[in-house]
Amino acid sequence: MKSTLLLERISKIYKRISHAAMRAGRDPEDVRLIAVTKTVSAGQIREAIDAGLRIFGENRVQEAQKKVTSDELRLENEEISWHLIGHLQKNKAKFAVQLFDLIHSVDSEDLACEIDRHAQKTGKRQDVLVEVKLSHEGTKHGVSRGGLPGLLRVVEDLKHLNLRGLMTVPPFFDDPKEARPYFRELRELRDRAAAEGFDLPELSMGMSGDFEIAIEEGATMVRIGTAIFGERE
Ligand SMILES: *Cc1c(COP(=O)(O)O)cnc(C)c1O
Repeated sequence: MKSTLLLERISKIYKRISHAAMRAGRDPEDVRLIAVTKTVSAGQIREAIDAGLRIFGENRVQEAQKKVTSDELRLENEEISWHLIGHLQKNKAKFAVQLFDLIHSVDSEDLACEIDRHAQKTGKRQDVLVEVKLSHEGTKHGVSRGGLPGLLRVVEDLKHLNLRGLMTVPPFFDDPKEARPYFRELRELRDRAAAEGFDLPELSMGMSGDFEIAIEEGATMVRIGTAIFGERE
């Protein structure tokens, strides 16, 4: 991709983030852009770093591992931050702890305990979000509404996890406005948990098609792939 095209796309997204935040009376600085780089090559990620992006989201541990250790990116890893945004299998928890600054997808007690175990071994306190499933689609991961309070208590008690907030992936709609109730519900679940004493500053919600709506509803992290890098193959 031409790097001018990449720069243009990124600056457009920042503008849209700012406008959405201001519409909601929020500070645009409170919304972080996670550039989603699944299927995007290490070379393209390098260009994105040159264009100023610093936080990258991957949905597969193995794919991320290849990129993080690639020649193109090895030297950059000091200044960039990798997030795991996709489902994590327990048997990959060890590598996830090694690779990622934030894991967005904790959705079970077993997984939380496994991440905690590896974080302890590594001498790390692992930042995590709990993923909540708010739709009825069979393919989506996440803890149910009813299971959320229990999982939050477990995560909070694990000494090597640092619970930072909640994440969700709503169903896909042609009209992004239809995603609004899902974003709003995640914020309400967070507010309810806050009333019970949980400190959950981060809401990871919103993708290329609907991030402005998510920001209006309180997103602090938007996960954007195709609007930056183009359609995935
Ligand atoms: C792929 C992916 C995204 C980015 O989707 P785009 O529509 O390309 O912006 C965001 N979040 C998750 C969990 C994803 O898997």
